Amino acid sequence: MPSTNLTDPRRSYGIHLWGEENFIVEEGVIKVNHGRKPSLVELTRTMREEGYKGPLFFRFPHLAAQNVRMLFDHFERAKREFAYQGKFKAVFPLKVNQFPGFVIPLMEATSDLEYGLEAGSKAELILAMTYTNLGKPITVNGFKDREMISIGFLAAKMGHNITLTIEGINELELIIKEAKRLGSPMPKIGLRIRLHTGGIGIWAKSGGYGSKFGLTSTELLEAMELLKKHGLTERLSMIHFHIGSQMNHISPLKKAIREAGNIYAELRKMGADNLHAINIGGGLAVEYSQQEGRSSRNYTIEEFTNDVVFLLKEIADAKGVREPTIFTESGRYVAANHAVLVAPVLELFSQEYSEKTLHLKEKNPPLVQELYDLYRSISTKNAREYLHDALDHMESLLTLFDLGYIDLTDRANTETLVHLIIKKALGLLRSKPSQEIKAILDRVQERYLVNFSLFQSLPDYWGLGQNFPVMPLDRLDQAPTRSASLWDITCDSDGEIAFNIDNPLYLHDVDVETEEYFLGFFKVGAYQEILGMRHNLFTHPTEATIIFDAEGDYTIENIIEAQNILDVLDDIDYDTREIERRIRQMIEEAEALDDDERKEILGELYLYLSENGYLRTINFSEGA
Ligand SMILES: *Cc1c(COP(=O)(O)O)cnc(C)c1O
Repeated sequence: MPSTNLTDPRRSYGIHLWGEENFIVEEGVIKVNHGRKPSLVELTRTMREEGYKGPLFFRFPHLAAQNVRMLFDHFERAKREFAYQGKFKAVFPLKVNQFPGFVIPLMEATSDLEYGLEAGSKAELILAMTYTNLGKPITVNGFKDREMISIGFLAAKMGHNITLTIEGINELELIIKEAKRLGSPMPKIGLRIRLHTGGIGIWAKSGGYGSKFGLTSTELLEAMELLKKHGLTERLSMIHFHIGSQMNHISPLKKAIREAGNIYAELRKMGADNLHAINIGGGLAVEYSQQEGRSSRNYTIEEFTNDVVFLLKEIADAKGVREPTIFTESGRYVAANHAVLVAPVLELFSQEYSEKTLHLKEKNPPLVQELYDLYRSISTKNAREYLHDALDHMESLLTLFDLGYIDLTDRANTETLVHLIIKKALGLLRSKPSQEIKAILDRVQERYLVNFSLFQSLPDYWGLGQNFPVMPLDRLDQAPTRSASLWDITCDSDGEIAFNIDNPLYLHDVDVETEEYFLGFFKVGAYQEILGMRHNLFTHPTEATIIFDAEGDYTIENIIEAQNILDVLDDIDYDTREIERRIRQMIEEAEALDDDERKEILGELYLYLSENGYLRTINFSEGA
């Protein structure tokens, strides 16, 4: 029996909502629900014993492969259910994750499926040509120049099954020119259509008439004429649309499919005899929510596949055209859950408050004295009342400080006493926190300093307010008692995940001087890696891939350590030899040092330059 108490949302962190049974809570820890079920804390400890400090980025390629199979299985099921004649094929859009640790295992694990890669730039196209299994589909979207189109022709000549989706008439003209120059074999041609249907949600800019992409009806007619005129109609094989990422509602997609289905039928009637595929783009949403009733999507994969197949069948039958091959380009759905970021908590800010740090005077201001008395006499019976009083006193005392009536020592005593009272009250009320107590605690959050950069690892939180599931890796058999806000280690005040009463995060009251506490951020495998920025020069964390064998045993492979400091500086075009030379010279000329000291300092500095820039530890004992 999993020990997750699903009725206690604080303790389960909503894992039954977002975890898809890929991660489970057992024996107070979160485990990978595969093979021998290693716990994330065990994986983390192993990495740290190997000497890798700072945040860790774990990849689970079995999850990405499983997502692709789920997509294929559901489409196959829906096709059977509706006796659909067309095929199903899919590509992974590289813009969602171009990292080798993701792409290469994905292509290996899915080589038996009609599954390939989608490219939106020249560099991505080169990746698609290199890693798509020959014969499996490649699609190319995005704006293209002559050179990019030529690369597409080269791919076709290599034997690839490649479709260039044109975004505008000028691209079609370029293809026609290249076809004259390079002849066949040549790529197939897709047309991106401009729908009047738009998506909704924070990523919904890809659809609709105002969209950056796609051909209007007039342009479609023009494209058909051009193709006919140059004898290339038979190359037209696909129409494509993409209404935006993370569609939280299914209705815009249904409208888009109706629109696209009718355009498909019309183009076929106009003589596009080889047009046989509708590519519905990406947008299949991922569940990020940890809160009951706050779901990030209003449909399941089953409903999604049923709707697509049913609607396309209905339109094809009504218009008397063959049922099209269905293509998808789901990226987020395939990649998001394959990666987990694990970041150590370095400090709890109120931990610095203890009885030892009190500096009570012979004679304290009356309110400070009263706080002290509250602290001494607080009990289960009066905890609520005393907590109220303490918070009121704090307000008054801070005002007195601003007005110059109490000094800095009094203010420090106030802070310490209020924190001590909160802690004591929490302990006393642990078993029966009322709504009101919760409300108070939500006002007095603990700030957890976490060894990661939000800008590097969760850029969509920073840029779009996208929440990612977050939870501690262990202590899951104990109720967390602190409402938490998370601070990253950048010097930017945006590097914070503030406590949010609508999406509250509760964490444990741990003493990080004596025990480790790790947070896991889930579903960070889509978009975050490549969008992550090196603000404050924090780079991609150390990554590791967890591979399961047929017996269910696992190995940790492909460890790539976060870049060291010199490499980071080299990347932004510093001359690192110049940096080394200048530092060496300054040390050699430092008058305060003798020769032995110079040698020692230099040695130490070189060591630091060769390490990554994340924090090793703040106050944890040596070696942590
Ligand atoms: C971004 C993009 C996708 C992937 O979208 P997801 O929401 O990640 O599934 C698919 N197709 C095109 C054309 C895109 O631009």
